[in-house]
Amino acid sequence: MQTRSPADSSVRPQDDPWDMALRQFAHAADRLSLKRGIREYLARPHREFTVRFPVSMDDGSVQMFTGYRTLHNGVLGPAKGGLRYSPQVRVSEVRALAMWMTWKCALNHLPYGGAKGGVTCDPQTLSAGELERLTRRYATEISVVIGPHQDIPAPDVGTNAQVMAWFMDTYSMHRGYSIPTVVTGKPVVIGGSAGRLEATGRGVMIAAREAARFRGLPFAGARVVVQGSGNVGGVAAHLLHAAGCTVVGLSDVRGGIHAPDGFDPDAALRYARDTGSLAGFPGTDWVSNSELLELPCDVLVPAAIEGQITSSNADRIQAQMIVEGANGPTTPDADDILERRGVLVVPDILANAGGVIVSYFEWVQDLQSYFWSEDEINANLERLMVRSFDAVTHFAAEQDVSLRTGALIFAVKRVADALMIRGIYP
Ligand code: NAD
Repeated sequence: MQTRSPADSSVRPQDDPWDMALRQFAHAADRLSLKRGIREYLARPHREFTVRFPVSMDDGSVQMFTGYRTLHNGVLGPAKGGLRYSPQVRVSEVRALAMWMTWKCALNHLPYGGAKGGVTCDPQTLSAGELERLTRRYATEISVVIGPHQDIPAPDVGTNAQVMAWFMDTYSMHRGYSIPTVVTGKPVVIGGSAGRLEATGRGVMIAAREAARFRGLPFAGARVVVQGSGNVGGVAAHLLHAAGCTVVGLSDVRGGIHAPDGFDPDAALRYARDTGSLAGFPGTDWVSNSELLELPCDVLVPAAIEGQITSSNADRIQAQMIVEGANGPTTPDADDILERRGVLVVPDILANAGGVIVSYFEWVQDLQSYFWSEDEINANLERLMVRSFDAVTHFAAEQDVSLRTGALIFAVKRVADALMIRGIYP
Protein backbone atom coordinates (compact mmCIF):
# COMPACT_ATOMS: atom_id res chain seq x y z
CA MET A 1 0.00 0.00 0.00
CA GLN A 2 1.16 3.51 -0.69
CA THR A 3 2.52 5.78 2.04
CA ARG A 4 2.58 9.52 1.42
CA SER A 5 4.62 11.85 3.57
CA PRO A 6 2.93 13.35 6.65
CA ALA A 7 3.11 16.87 5.22
CA ASP A 8 -0.63 17.50 5.64
CA SER A 9 -1.70 19.20 8.77
CA SER A 10 -5.10 19.49 10.38
CA VAL A 11 -8.44 20.73 9.14
CA ARG A 12 -8.61 24.37 10.27
CA PRO A 13 -11.77 25.16 12.21
CA GLN A 14 -13.77 27.58 10.04
CA ASP A 15 -16.47 28.72 12.40
CA ASP A 16 -15.78 30.70 15.52
CA PRO A 17 -16.53 28.34 18.45
CA TRP A 18 -18.29 31.04 20.47
CA ASP A 19 -20.59 31.83 17.51
CA MET A 20 -21.33 28.11 17.27
CA ALA A 21 -22.12 27.83 20.99
CA LEU A 22 -24.36 30.91 20.87
CA ARG A 23 -26.27 29.64 17.83
CA GLN A 24 -26.86 26.30 19.53
CA PHE A 25 -27.98 28.03 22.73
CA ALA A 26 -30.30 30.40 20.84
CA HIS A 27 -31.96 27.43 19.16
CA ALA A 28 -32.64 25.74 22.52
CA ALA A 29 -33.69 29.03 24.17
CA ASP A 30 -36.19 29.69 21.33
CA ARG A 31 -37.70 26.23 21.73
CA LEU A 32 -38.01 26.81 25.49
CA SER A 33 -39.32 30.37 25.04
CA LEU A 34 -36.84 31.46 27.73
CA LYS A 35 -37.57 34.86 29.26
CA ARG A 36 -35.30 37.62 27.99
CA GLY A 37 -33.43 38.20 31.27
CA ILE A 38 -32.69 34.49 31.81
CA ARG A 39 -31.66 34.17 28.21
CA GLU A 40 -29.23 37.07 28.46
CA TYR A 41 -27.83 35.71 31.70
CA LEU A 42 -27.17 32.25 30.24
CA ALA A 43 -25.83 33.59 26.94
CA ARG A 44 -22.82 35.17 28.66
CA PRO A 45 -20.04 33.81 30.85
CA HIS A 46 -20.38 34.64 34.52
CA ARG A 47 -16.68 35.32 34.95
CA GLU A 48 -13.70 35.59 32.58
CA PHE A 49 -10.17 35.73 33.85
CA THR A 50 -7.13 36.47 31.65
CA VAL A 51 -3.56 36.33 32.92
CA ARG A 52 -0.26 37.23 31.29
CA PHE A 53 2.73 35.74 32.99
CA PRO A 54 6.46 35.11 32.48
CA VAL A 55 8.20 31.73 32.32
CA SER A 56 11.97 31.16 32.55
CA MET A 57 12.99 29.13 29.54
CA ASP A 58 15.81 26.58 29.43
CA ASP A 59 18.03 28.89 27.35
CA GLY A 60 17.95 31.56 30.07
CA SER A 61 15.40 33.79 28.29
CA VAL A 62 12.04 34.86 29.70
CA GLN A 63 8.93 34.25 27.61
CA MET A 64 5.49 35.75 28.21
CA PHE A 65 2.36 33.54 27.99
CA THR A 66 -1.38 34.26 28.10
CA GLY A 67 -3.74 32.03 30.06
CA TYR A 68 -7.50 32.02 30.62
CA ARG A 69 -10.06 30.60 33.01
CA THR A 70 -13.71 31.22 32.21
CA LEU A 71 -16.63 30.22 34.40
CA HIS A 72 -19.77 30.15 32.31
CA ASN A 73 -22.33 29.30 34.97
CA GLY A 74 -22.29 27.95 38.52
CA VAL A 75 -25.97 27.70 39.37
CA LEU A 76 -25.89 23.88 39.72
CA GLY A 77 -22.69 23.75 41.78
CA PRO A 78 -18.93 24.32 41.60
CA ALA A 79 -17.78 24.79 38.01
CA LYS A 80 -15.99 21.98 36.20
CA GLY A 81 -13.95 22.01 33.02
CA GLY A 82 -10.62 21.16 31.45
CA LEU A 83 -7.39 23.05 30.85
CA ARG A 84 -6.12 23.21 27.28
CA TYR A 85 -2.53 23.89 26.18
CA SER A 86 -2.50 24.64 22.47
CA PRO A 87 -1.39 27.39 20.07
CA GLN A 88 -5.08 27.84 19.09
CA VAL A 89 -6.26 28.66 22.64
CA ARG A 90 -8.09 32.01 22.53
CA VAL A 91 -10.83 33.67 24.50
CA SER A 92 -13.67 32.70 22.12
CA GLU A 93 -12.63 29.05 22.24
CA VAL A 94 -12.38 28.95 26.05
CA ARG A 95 -15.72 30.75 26.38
CA ALA A 96 -17.49 28.27 24.09
CA LEU A 97 -15.94 25.26 25.81
CA ALA A 98 -17.04 26.67 29.20
CA MET A 99 -20.65 27.06 28.01
CA TRP A 100 -20.66 23.50 26.60
CA MET A 101 -19.45 22.27 30.01
CA THR A 102 -22.46 23.92 31.70
CA TRP A 103 -24.83 22.05 29.39
CA LYS A 104 -22.86 18.77 29.66
CA CYS A 105 -22.94 18.74 33.47
CA ALA A 106 -26.64 19.67 33.52
CA LEU A 107 -27.57 17.03 30.94
CA ASN A 108 -25.79 14.30 32.89
CA HIS A 109 -27.25 15.33 36.28
CA LEU A 110 -23.85 16.24 37.74
CA PRO A 111 -23.90 18.84 40.56
CA TYR A 112 -21.60 21.15 38.62
CA GLY A 113 -21.54 24.32 36.58
CA GLY A 114 -19.33 24.80 33.53
CA ALA A 115 -15.86 26.30 33.13
CA LYS A 116 -12.80 25.98 30.92
CA GLY A 117 -9.28 27.28 30.83
CA GLY A 118 -6.09 27.15 28.87
CA VAL A 119 -2.78 28.65 27.94
CA THR A 120 -1.83 29.72 24.41
CA CYS A 121 1.33 27.67 23.90
CA ASP A 122 2.66 24.72 21.96
CA PRO A 123 3.41 22.02 24.54
CA GLN A 124 5.27 20.00 21.85
CA THR A 125 7.99 22.66 21.75
CA LEU A 126 8.40 22.99 25.54
CA SER A 127 10.79 20.88 27.62
CA ALA A 128 9.40 19.04 30.65
CA GLY A 129 10.98 21.68 32.89
CA GLU A 130 9.43 24.56 30.90
CA LEU A 131 6.04 22.84 30.95
CA GLU A 132 6.26 22.39 34.73
CA ARG A 133 7.26 26.03 35.33
CA LEU A 134 4.50 27.25 32.99
CA THR A 135 1.93 25.07 34.78
CA ARG A 136 3.00 26.12 38.28
CA ARG A 137 2.95 29.82 37.37
CA TYR A 138 -0.41 29.54 35.58
CA ALA A 139 -1.85 27.59 38.55
CA THR A 140 -0.65 30.32 40.90
CA GLU A 141 -2.11 33.07 38.69
CA ILE A 142 -5.56 31.49 38.49
CA SER A 143 -5.59 30.14 42.07
CA VAL A 144 -7.68 33.16 43.07
CA VAL A 145 -10.62 31.88 41.02
CA ILE A 146 -10.34 28.11 41.36
CA GLY A 147 -10.88 25.81 44.33
CA PRO A 148 -12.48 22.48 45.32
CA HIS A 149 -15.85 24.17 45.93
CA GLN A 150 -15.76 26.88 43.28
CA ASP A 151 -14.02 25.75 40.10
CA ILE A 152 -12.24 22.43 39.51
CA PRO A 153 -9.95 21.96 36.46
CA ALA A 154 -9.20 18.68 34.64
CA PRO A 155 -7.12 17.60 31.61
CA ASP A 156 -8.02 18.57 28.04
CA VAL A 157 -6.09 18.89 24.75
CA GLY A 158 -2.35 19.19 25.43
CA THR A 159 -2.58 18.52 29.19
CA ASN A 160 -2.51 15.25 31.13
CA ALA A 161 -2.32 13.65 34.57
CA GLN A 162 1.23 14.99 35.11
CA VAL A 163 0.07 18.57 34.47
CA MET A 164 -2.79 18.01 36.95
CA ALA A 165 -0.24 16.71 39.52
CA TRP A 166 1.87 19.90 39.18
CA PHE A 167 -1.30 21.97 39.37
CA MET A 168 -2.52 20.22 42.55
CA ASP A 169 0.92 20.40 44.14
CA THR A 170 1.25 24.15 43.45
CA TYR A 171 -2.20 24.92 44.85
CA SER A 172 -1.48 22.73 47.91
CA MET A 173 1.94 24.31 48.55
CA HIS A 174 0.39 27.78 48.71
CA ARG A 175 -2.07 26.61 51.35
CA GLY A 176 0.34 24.45 53.30
CA TYR A 177 -1.46 21.11 53.04
CA SER A 178 -2.56 18.66 50.32
CA ILE A 179 -5.79 19.53 48.54
CA PRO A 180 -6.45 16.73 46.01
CA THR A 181 -10.03 17.95 45.37
CA VAL A 182 -8.79 21.03 43.47
CA VAL A 183 -8.30 19.12 40.20
CA THR A 184 -9.47 15.83 38.70
CA GLY A 185 -7.67 13.61 36.22
CA LYS A 186 -4.72 13.36 38.64
CA PRO A 187 -2.46 10.29 38.85
CA VAL A 188 -4.05 7.60 41.05
CA VAL A 189 -1.17 7.73 43.55
CA ILE A 190 -2.14 11.29 44.64
CA GLY A 191 -5.91 10.82 44.77
CA GLY A 192 -6.83 10.27 41.13
CA SER A 193 -9.59 7.84 40.28
CA ALA A 194 -9.23 4.38 38.83
CA GLY A 195 -10.64 4.47 35.31
CA ARG A 196 -10.38 8.28 34.82
CA LEU A 197 -7.68 8.05 32.15
CA GLU A 198 -9.90 5.88 29.96
CA ALA A 199 -13.24 7.40 31.03
CA THR A 200 -13.94 9.73 28.09
CA GLY A 201 -12.95 7.11 25.49
CA ARG A 202 -14.94 4.46 27.37
CA GLY A 203 -17.96 6.76 27.39
CA VAL A 204 -17.55 7.33 23.65
CA MET A 205 -17.51 3.57 23.07
CA ILE A 206 -20.69 3.18 25.18
CA ALA A 207 -22.37 6.04 23.27
CA ALA A 208 -21.41 4.45 19.92
CA ARG A 209 -22.75 1.07 21.07
CA GLU A 210 -26.03 2.61 22.26
CA ALA A 211 -26.34 4.63 19.04
CA ALA A 212 -25.86 1.47 16.97
CA ARG A 213 -28.60 -0.22 19.01
CA PHE A 214 -30.84 2.84 18.56
CA ARG A 215 -30.22 2.82 14.82
CA GLY A 216 -30.55 -0.97 14.44
CA LEU A 217 -27.00 -1.17 13.11
CA PRO A 218 -24.85 -4.19 14.08
CA PHE A 219 -22.11 -2.92 16.42
CA ALA A 220 -19.77 -5.90 16.01
CA GLY A 221 -18.02 -5.40 12.69
CA ALA A 222 -19.11 -1.75 12.31
CA ARG A 223 -16.44 0.20 10.40
CA VAL A 224 -15.11 3.03 12.50
CA VAL A 225 -12.98 6.10 11.69
CA VAL A 226 -11.47 8.03 14.63
CA GLN A 227 -10.03 11.53 14.18
CA GLY A 228 -7.47 12.25 16.92
CA SER A 229 -5.50 9.63 18.80
CA GLY A 230 -4.89 11.34 22.12
CA ASN A 231 -6.58 10.61 25.41
CA VAL A 232 -10.08 10.45 23.91
CA GLY A 233 -9.45 9.15 20.38
CA GLY A 234 -6.72 6.68 21.33
CA VAL A 235 -8.78 5.05 24.08
CA ALA A 236 -11.98 5.12 21.99
CA ALA A 237 -10.20 3.38 19.08
CA HIS A 238 -8.79 0.77 21.47
CA LEU A 239 -12.14 0.05 23.14
CA LEU A 240 -14.15 0.08 19.90
CA HIS A 241 -11.69 -2.43 18.44
CA ALA A 242 -11.92 -4.53 21.64
CA ALA A 243 -15.74 -4.43 21.34
CA GLY A 244 -15.52 -6.00 17.86
CA CYS A 245 -15.70 -2.91 15.62
CA THR A 246 -13.35 -2.65 12.66
CA VAL A 247 -11.18 0.46 12.95
CA VAL A 248 -10.51 1.58 9.34
CA GLY A 249 -9.07 5.07 9.98
CA LEU A 250 -7.15 6.90 12.72
CA SER A 251 -5.31 10.23 12.76
CA ASP A 252 -3.30 12.72 14.74
CA VAL A 253 -2.62 16.39 14.02
CA ARG A 254 -0.36 15.55 11.05
CA GLY A 255 -2.82 13.30 9.22
CA GLY A 256 -4.12 9.76 9.34
CA ILE A 257 -3.96 6.16 8.22
CA HIS A 258 -6.59 4.17 6.37
CA ALA A 259 -7.12 0.50 5.59
CA PRO A 260 -10.57 -0.53 4.22
CA ASP A 261 -10.40 -3.94 5.94
CA GLY A 262 -9.27 -2.48 9.24
CA PHE A 263 -6.14 -2.56 11.39
CA ASP A 264 -5.19 -2.98 15.02
CA PRO A 265 -5.30 0.53 16.55
CA ASP A 266 -3.19 -0.56 19.54
CA ALA A 267 -0.38 -1.65 17.21
CA ALA A 268 -0.77 1.62 15.24
CA LEU A 269 -0.51 3.70 18.42
CA ARG A 270 2.57 1.72 19.57
CA TYR A 271 4.09 2.30 16.12
CA ALA A 272 3.36 6.06 16.38
CA ARG A 273 4.96 6.19 19.84
CA ASP A 274 8.08 4.42 18.56
CA THR A 275 8.47 6.32 15.27
CA GLY A 276 6.88 9.66 16.15
CA SER A 277 4.13 9.32 13.54
CA LEU A 278 1.29 7.08 12.36
CA ALA A 279 2.63 7.52 8.80
CA GLY A 280 3.99 4.31 7.36
CA PHE A 281 2.08 1.95 9.68
CA PRO A 282 2.18 -1.31 7.69
CA GLY A 283 -0.90 -2.16 5.64
CA THR A 284 -2.33 1.37 5.64
CA ASP A 285 -2.54 4.36 3.28
CA TRP A 286 -1.70 7.85 4.44
CA VAL A 287 -4.61 10.33 4.25
CA SER A 288 -5.02 13.96 5.23
CA ASN A 289 -7.30 14.85 8.16
CA SER A 290 -9.92 16.18 5.73
CA GLU A 291 -9.78 12.98 3.65
CA LEU A 292 -10.04 10.92 6.84
CA LEU A 293 -13.36 12.52 7.79
CA GLU A 294 -14.83 11.55 4.42
CA LEU A 295 -13.74 7.90 4.38
CA PRO A 296 -16.36 5.18 3.86
CA CYS A 297 -17.36 3.93 7.32
CA ASP A 298 -20.38 3.31 9.56
CA VAL A 299 -19.29 5.34 12.60
CA LEU A 300 -17.19 8.51 12.56
CA VAL A 301 -15.68 9.59 15.88
CA PRO A 302 -14.22 13.11 15.69
CA ALA A 303 -11.98 13.23 18.79
CA ALA A 304 -9.57 16.09 18.09
CA ILE A 305 -10.81 19.69 18.18
CA GLU A 306 -13.85 21.80 17.34
CA GLY A 307 -15.08 22.93 13.90
CA GLN A 308 -14.01 19.88 11.86
CA ILE A 309 -17.33 18.93 10.21
CA THR A 310 -18.59 22.05 8.48
CA SER A 311 -20.86 23.13 5.64
CA SER A 312 -17.87 22.51 3.32
CA ASN A 313 -17.56 18.78 4.01
CA ALA A 314 -20.85 17.66 5.65
CA ASP A 315 -22.24 16.60 2.26
CA ARG A 316 -19.33 14.24 1.74
CA ILE A 317 -19.38 12.50 5.15
CA GLN A 318 -20.12 8.85 4.43
CA ALA A 319 -20.69 7.64 8.02
CA GLN A 320 -24.19 6.71 9.15
CA MET A 321 -23.46 7.93 12.66
CA ILE A 322 -21.17 10.57 14.13
CA VAL A 323 -20.26 10.11 17.79
CA GLU A 324 -18.65 13.31 19.02
CA GLY A 325 -15.61 12.54 21.17
CA ALA A 326 -14.38 16.12 20.77
CA ASN A 327 -16.21 19.20 21.99
CA GLY A 328 -17.88 21.15 19.19
CA PRO A 329 -16.54 19.17 16.19
CA THR A 330 -19.71 19.82 14.13
CA THR A 331 -20.84 23.32 13.19
CA PRO A 332 -24.55 24.27 13.26
CA ASP A 333 -24.64 24.53 9.42
CA ALA A 334 -23.14 21.06 9.15
CA ASP A 335 -25.70 19.78 11.67
CA ASP A 336 -28.51 20.95 9.37
CA ILE A 337 -26.96 19.19 6.37
CA LEU A 338 -26.36 15.97 8.30
CA GLU A 339 -29.88 15.97 9.71
CA ARG A 340 -31.30 16.41 6.19
CA ARG A 341 -29.15 13.51 5.00
CA GLY A 342 -30.29 11.27 7.88
CA VAL A 343 -26.88 10.99 9.53
CA LEU A 344 -27.31 10.39 13.27
CA VAL A 345 -25.18 12.79 15.34
CA VAL A 346 -24.61 11.81 18.98
CA PRO A 347 -23.76 15.24 20.40
CA ASP A 348 -20.62 16.03 22.39
CA ILE A 349 -22.42 16.86 25.64
CA LEU A 350 -23.77 13.30 25.60
CA ALA A 351 -21.08 11.29 23.79
CA ASN A 352 -17.98 12.59 25.58
CA ALA A 353 -19.51 13.02 29.05
CA GLY A 354 -17.62 9.98 30.39
CA GLY A 355 -14.68 12.19 31.33
CA VAL A 356 -16.59 14.61 33.52
CA ILE A 357 -18.70 11.79 34.96
CA VAL A 358 -15.60 9.98 36.26
CA SER A 359 -14.09 13.35 37.27
CA TYR A 360 -17.18 13.72 39.43
CA PHE A 361 -16.52 10.25 40.91
CA GLU A 362 -12.90 11.32 41.55
CA TRP A 363 -13.98 14.49 43.36
CA VAL A 364 -16.50 12.54 45.48
CA GLN A 365 -13.83 9.94 46.37
CA ASP A 366 -11.33 12.69 47.31
CA LEU A 367 -13.92 14.50 49.45
CA GLN A 368 -14.59 11.24 51.33
CA SER A 369 -10.97 9.96 51.22
CA TYR A 370 -12.51 6.63 50.29
CA PHE A 371 -11.73 5.01 46.96
CA TRP A 372 -13.73 2.73 44.72
CA SER A 373 -12.49 -0.15 42.56
CA GLU A 374 -12.12 0.23 38.81
CA ASP A 375 -15.00 -2.23 38.32
CA GLU A 376 -17.27 -0.03 40.45
CA ILE A 377 -16.19 3.06 38.53
CA ASN A 378 -16.80 1.45 35.15
CA ALA A 379 -20.16 -0.01 36.20
CA ASN A 380 -21.35 3.41 37.44
CA LEU A 381 -20.04 5.11 34.30
CA GLU A 382 -21.91 2.60 32.14
CA ARG A 383 -25.11 3.18 34.15
CA LEU A 384 -24.95 6.98 33.87
CA MET A 385 -24.01 6.99 30.17
CA VAL A 386 -26.88 4.66 29.27
CA ARG A 387 -29.31 6.67 31.45
CA SER A 388 -28.34 9.89 29.65
CA PHE A 389 -28.47 8.26 26.22
CA ASP A 390 -31.98 6.90 26.87
CA ALA A 391 -33.15 10.22 28.32
CA VAL A 392 -31.91 12.17 25.29
CA THR A 393 -33.28 9.77 22.69
CA HIS A 394 -36.71 9.70 24.38
CA PHE A 395 -36.81 13.46 24.87
CA ALA A 396 -35.67 14.17 21.28
CA ALA A 397 -38.33 11.80 19.91
CA GLU A 398 -41.00 13.46 22.07
CA GLN A 399 -39.98 16.93 20.87
CA ASP A 400 -39.37 15.73 17.30
CA VAL A 401 -35.88 17.24 17.19
CA SER A 402 -32.32 16.01 16.61
CA LEU A 403 -30.36 14.46 19.47
CA ARG A 404 -28.25 17.65 19.69
CA THR A 405 -31.27 19.93 19.98
CA GLY A 406 -32.97 17.53 22.40
CA ALA A 407 -29.88 17.32 24.61
CA LEU A 408 -29.45 21.11 24.60
CA ILE A 409 -33.11 21.85 25.39
CA PHE A 410 -32.99 19.32 28.24
CA ALA A 411 -29.77 20.81 29.66
CA VAL A 412 -30.68 24.49 29.24
CA LYS A 413 -34.04 23.85 30.89
CA ARG A 414 -32.37 22.24 33.93
CA VAL A 415 -30.05 25.21 34.37
CA ALA A 416 -32.85 27.75 33.83
CA ASP A 417 -35.11 25.89 36.32
CA ALA A 418 -32.33 25.85 38.93
CA LEU A 419 -31.73 29.53 38.35
CA MET A 420 -35.39 30.38 38.80
CA ILE A 421 -35.80 28.29 41.93
CA ARG A 422 -32.67 29.81 43.51
CA GLY A 423 -33.94 33.26 42.59
CA ILE A 424 -32.08 36.38 41.64
CA TYR A 425 -29.92 37.75 44.46
CA PRO A 426 -30.47 40.10 46.28
P1 NAD B 1 -5.20 15.13 23.42
O1 NAD B 1 -4.30 16.29 23.44
O2 NAD B 1 -4.89 13.96 24.29
O3 NAD B 1 -5.35 14.56 21.92
C1 NAD B 1 -5.75 15.38 20.85
C2 NAD B 1 -5.58 14.62 19.54
O4 NAD B 1 -6.06 15.44 18.48
C3 NAD B 1 -4.12 14.29 19.22
O5 NAD B 1 -4.06 13.07 18.51
C4 NAD B 1 -3.70 15.45 18.33
O6 NAD B 1 -2.62 15.13 17.46
C5 NAD B 1 -5.00 15.69 17.55
N1 NAD B 1 -5.15 17.06 17.09
C6 NAD B 1 -4.85 18.19 17.77
N2 NAD B 1 -5.12 19.27 17.02
C7 NAD B 1 -5.63 18.81 15.85
C8 NAD B 1 -6.09 19.42 14.67
N3 NAD B 1 -6.05 20.75 14.52
N4 NAD B 1 -6.55 18.61 13.65
C9 NAD B 1 -6.54 17.27 13.78
N5 NAD B 1 -6.08 16.64 14.88
C10 NAD B 1 -5.65 17.40 15.89
O7 NAD B 1 -6.66 15.71 23.75
P2 NAD B 1 -7.92 14.90 24.26
O8 NAD B 1 -7.97 15.03 25.75
O9 NAD B 1 -7.97 13.56 23.62
O10 NAD B 1 -9.12 15.82 23.71
C11 NAD B 1 -9.64 15.66 22.39
C12 NAD B 1 -11.03 16.30 22.31
O11 NAD B 1 -11.88 15.68 23.28
C13 NAD B 1 -11.09 17.81 22.64
O12 NAD B 1 -12.12 18.38 21.89
C14 NAD B 1 -11.46 17.82 24.11
O13 NAD B 1 -12.06 19.04 24.50
C15 NAD B 1 -12.45 16.67 24.13
N6 NAD B 1 -12.69 16.09 25.45
C16 NAD B 1 -11.66 15.63 26.22
C17 NAD B 1 -11.94 15.06 27.44
C18 NAD B 1 -10.86 14.47 28.31
O14 NAD B 1 -11.20 13.88 29.34
N7 NAD B 1 -9.58 14.55 27.96
C19 NAD B 1 -13.26 14.98 27.90
C20 NAD B 1 -14.29 15.44 27.07
C21 NAD B 1 -13.99 15.98 25.85
